[in-house]
Amino acid sequence: MVVLGGGFAGVGAANKLKKADVDLVLVDRHDYHTFQPLLYQLATGLLETTAVGHSLRDLVKDQDNATIHQAPVTSIDLAAKEVRFEGLAPMTYDFLVLALGAQVNFFGTEGAGEHAFPMYTLPDAVRLKNHILDRWEAADKDRALVDDGALNVVVVGGGPTGVETAGAVAELYRMNFDTDYPSLPQDEARVVLVEAGEEIFAMFKPNLREYALDALEQRTVEVVTGARVQSVSPTRVTLASGDVIKAHTLVWGAGLQGNALVQSLGIQLARGNRIAVGPDLELPGHPGVFVVGDLAAIMDSRTEQELPQLGSVALQSGEHVGETIARRVAGKSAKPFKYRDKGTMAAIGRDAAVVQMLGGKTMKGHKAQLAWRTVHLALLPTNEDRAKAIVDWAGSELTHQRVGRIHVEED
Ligand SMILES: Cc1cc2nc3c(=O)[nH]c(=O)nc-3n(C[C@H](O)[C@H](O)[C@H](O)COP(=O)(O)OP(=O)(O)OC[C@H]3O[C@@H](n4cnc5c(N)ncnc54)[C@H](O)[C@@H]3O)c2cc1C
Repeated sequence: MVVLGGGFAGVGAANKLKKADVDLVLVDRHDYHTFQPLLYQLATGLLETTAVGHSLRDLVKDQDNATIHQAPVTSIDLAAKEVRFEGLAPMTYDFLVLALGAQVNFFGTEGAGEHAFPMYTLPDAVRLKNHILDRWEAADKDRALVDDGALNVVVVGGGPTGVETAGAVAELYRMNFDTDYPSLPQDEARVVLVEAGEEIFAMFKPNLREYALDALEQRTVEVVTGARVQSVSPTRVTLASGDVIKAHTLVWGAGLQGNALVQSLGIQLARGNRIAVGPDLELPGHPGVFVVGDLAAIMDSRTEQELPQLGSVALQSGEHVGETIARRVAGKSAKPFKYRDKGTMAAIGRDAAVVQMLGGKTMKGHKAQLAWRTVHLALLPTNEDRAKAIVDWAGSELTHQRVGRIHVEED
């Protein structure tokens, strides 16, 4: 069997097949698993690269029936049951798990592809961190750059990715860069969050939205709602209203679409380039082919709504497919997928988070941050990763330090 993608979904599927009588091959374009929920903490120096990326080979090292390959998938032929790769011989399969995730969607915004900083991959987060450090170093040498907006950051998207990133950048600026760069004017370094809708955090209840707005403002984030970014250049962000913001950095946290590779499958795609699956997460008309995680449009059997693109959905759907295949191979029948909702949550900064539980109960502040940490620690792939994150979080809490705020460039 072939698993394509080593994110939450692919690794979840592989791990549940540990005892199954299968020859499992997991292929990813990277040699590591990325923990996307913590990318913004890497981008702002709170965590180091190894706390966010974990060796895929290490994750299956105790699994005798599994082989890992690092190679980009180039095409999938569902009729021939064959997957092709760059630099790796084609593979045929009896079972295929499509866990290739999603990719950024710039919605055709002019200049975004060239100049925006998306927050989706580990290199994206490292690139953003290096760019911000680079702008502060440059402004430290040439004060005129401050007036040109070198220190200003525009974050697009009032959902969890945008809010978490804006809050973290503001804390990096106000708690670390104020002492790192004493000759630069903090009050002229703006962090602006731009949201096209009328409110940020549309998925949360009004009390959590108000709390988030307040928490962002306390951190000096300027929140602009009802505004759409029209174009991006290396130093300017133009809104649809015609307003121009001087900013050398635009972070894109506004939209995702299913991995572009699925467009060549020759199947009907659901909204956002996702693949609609049946109750057991199998691709209709293609027995043995399963789609999981961000790539799948999964209908929640309980609410009859499409499940969101979340780490917990990806992990649970991947694990479910792993169990389904193990049962089928053993000649047993499989069960339909049932999602166990752990709540919707987001962290805005130190001691500021929001949680909305399934029954409507909400939490905010310190309590919500503890809940956020508990859920995210559970999603981390190993105990070693959990320990690393706990140590870094505890360190930054005590000292406000962000150990990763260094720019390691290639010589
Ligand atoms: C910034 C950010 C913050 C988030 N915060 C949260 C949060 O707080 N809580 C939460 O629950 N969820 C959060 N999410 C969502 C969550 O991270 C995703 O839902 C989850 O990672 C999806 O898992 P996946 O396995 O489907 O895809 P991914 O994790 O994207 O894995 C897909 C894998 O496929 C590989 N791949 C892609 N294309 C190819 C190719 N052509 N060839 C080979 N390999 C390929 C990739 O390298 C990757 O390893 C966040 C997402 C982002 C981007």
